[in-house]
This record gives sequence, structure tokens and C-alpha cells, in this order.
Amino acid sequence: MKEIYFDHAATTPMDKEVAELVFKYTTEYFGNPSSMHNFGQRMRSAVENARKQVAYAIGAKSVGEIAFCSGGTEANNMAILGAARANKQKGNHIITTAVEHHSVLTTCKRLANEGFELTILPVDKYGTVSVQDVVNAVTDKTILVSIMHANNEIGSIMPIAEIGKALKKLSNKIIFHTDAVQSIGKLPVNVDDLNVDILTISAHKIYGPMGVGAMYLRQGTWWQPIMYGGGQERRRRPGTENAPGIIGFGKAIELAMERQKEYVERLTKLRDKLVKMVFDRIPDVILNGHPTNRLSGHVSLCIKYIESEALMLYLNMQGIALSSGSACTSVSPEPSHVLAAIGVSREDANSAIRITLGKDNTDEEVERFVEALADIVSKLRAMSPVAKGDCSSCACEKCV
Ligand SMILES: *Cc1c(COP(=O)(O)O)cnc(C)c1O
Repeated sequence: MKEIYFDHAATTPMDKEVAELVFKYTTEYFGNPSSMHNFGQRMRSAVENARKQVAYAIGAKSVGEIAFCSGGTEANNMAILGAARANKQKGNHIITTAVEHHSVLTTCKRLANEGFELTILPVDKYGTVSVQDVVNAVTDKTILVSIMHANNEIGSIMPIAEIGKALKKLSNKIIFHTDAVQSIGKLPVNVDDLNVDILTISAHKIYGPMGVGAMYLRQGTWWQPIMYGGGQERRRRPGTENAPGIIGFGKAIELAMERQKEYVERLTKLRDKLVKMVFDRIPDVILNGHPTNRLSGHVSLCIKYIESEALMLYLNMQGIALSSGSACTSVSPEPSHVLAAIGVSREDANSAIRITLGKDNTDEEVERFVEALADIVSKLRAMSPVAKGDCSSCACEKCV
């Protein structure tokens, strides 16, 4: 049985071309990019080439604005801790939203414990924050606003360019950060068009290697490092660089830009086909997030009266891989903070699944998936007292 992978928001398979490059720069070529000899300098020039590729992809003016690190999580920590701590003489207020990735939300909460004041803005039923709410939350103490470009759990897209524009008009001491881990390669990501000062991305979500990310830091932005040691990455991120990973990241982002148009068109069609087929075949399904203003290839559904964990396991037995509400639920069992923020009940949140398509998925896979899903859902619902409307043995929120 051929396996089907529908979990591209969690990670993507490495592109063959990228993998070959990583292989070449771990076997044929190697060396510490800080070394003066040929071995080191070959790595250095390949790392600097990758920096150019990343800078070009996001419209950075200078390669000096790109610092590589270990991934999206570290990049978000660098962005938030580094900007907040460096600017605390100017103010102590930080604004973020309720639907951020844990690496943003938990980091902001950590700063709240260190004496910063934190505003966590709500979102509408589609998972987007309003520009006006952001503007209203700004005080004369605000130094940092961190809002994601696209949401990893429900695929919704935030009005980053408009927020950035509004913030610029309000004050020149606010640093605006966006987590673009999910949007890069799927939406236009240009640091000037988005009006951001800091932007963070990760390689393994765009067919690059795991354990590599980057932080864009606009020239002239006050910021301080969060780790200390060597002078690598212009003192922004000490430690020997993951040179093969960085070189792979450069290639991956170049390929992502090359295929973006075709990728988005194809995956939007495939996504819409999947949603239509599910709604045609299965009753009592809710699509989470905005129906159209969402990431291509991203589907979040609540399949009412079903435990998504059970559903996932049955699908897994048929070789179909997807995630429940959020990939993070496998390590932290609390219901998704994103689904809660858009007003999904705890009960419905337990029935949430996330299907995220990628470049190699096909129509046939979508068809086989919907067949399998419809079959498993009808079997599981036949066993569920709530689905049958018999609440005598049920302990759900509605009944108790
Ligand atoms: C995956 C992800 C991250 C974390 O990136 P890692 O490289 O896995 O640490 C951050 N933000 C968003 C939106 C993500 O989807």
C-alpha cells in the first residue's frame, strides 16, 4: 500500500536537489566556515551564497540583515527576546495575538514574567486579527508587536502589510515582527511590502533540511543577541554554523520561489476539491478558518462527534498521515489554543483534523483519502451515542 503524506505544515520531505547539495557539503566538501584554509573558505563562500539566496527571496536590501540559526523556534526566540530586551529603556509593552505559534506565545509570556506588559489580542472567527485592534492596543510604552503571517493550524492569513503600515504611522519606536514560517513559498513575502522590521523563517517547512532557520533584522533596528560566544553571524548567533543545512536552505528557498506560482495554483485547486468532496460525502463537518483567504493546500476540519485521535489512528493504519487539530497535540494534550481562540467548542476541537497538502500530492491521493475518511467516520459515528442523538450514556459538555 502506497503511503499518503498530508502533513506538510508539520514538515516537508527534503527536495532531492537540496539533499544532494547537503550530501556534497558534508562529504566531498567540509570544514569550519570560520577556518582560514581552503576547506573552511569553500564552506564560507557557500554559506554566503545561501545568505544571498535567502536575502533575495524575501527582498532584504543587504545580506547582513540575515542571521542563520537552528530553525523557526530559535528565530522567533531571537526576534522577541532580542528586540524586547534591547529596547526596554524605551518601554515595556508587547503586543501579540492569541493564535501565534507556541514559540512566539510562550516566549512573550516568559517576558511578561520578567516584567514586560503583554497584550494578547483576540482574533475573529476566521483567525485573523483586525488592524484596528492592533492600533487600539498600542500605548506610548509599546516597543514590540509580533503577529504571524499565516497560521499553522488553520491556515488563515493576517493583514501584515496593513498592520505594519499603521504601526509605522503611530510610532517610530515599535519593532514589528512577523513569523513567516508558514507563508514563505506560499504567499508573497517581501520585507518592505510587509512593512516588517524582523521576519523569521524555517527551512524544513519548504522542502529544506530540519534544524535551520533564519531571522531577517532590518538595518538600524535595535536588537541584542540571546546567546553569547563566538562572533559568528555578525555576533547575532554564536556557534559554528550548520553550514550544510544553511547551504541546503539557500537552495530550498530558491526552488520554493521558482515553483511558487505553479505550487499555489495547483494546491489551491487540490484543496478546494478535497473540501468539496468531504462536504459532499460527510455530514456535520465544519471548515475552520476562512473559506478562501487561507493558505493553499491547508484544510482544517472539525468532524463532529468523532475523536480526532481515533480517526488519525485509523487513517494511519491505511497509510494516510495527517495531524489532529495541531501537530503539537501529540506532545501537549491540551486542546488547541488556536481553535479555542476562533470560538470552536472544546467538544468540536477534539474532532479537529488538519490536512496540509504538498507539492507531490495528487488528485488520486485526495480521492483515496476522502473514501477512507468517509468510511471510517461512518463506522465511528455508528458507535457514538452522541452522533445517534442518544445522550443517555454520554458525558459530553452538552449533556452533563
Ligand atoms: C513550524 C513552525 C515554527 C517552528 O519552526 P521550527 O523550525 O520547527 O522550530 C514556527 N512558527 C510556525 C508558524 C510554524 O509553523
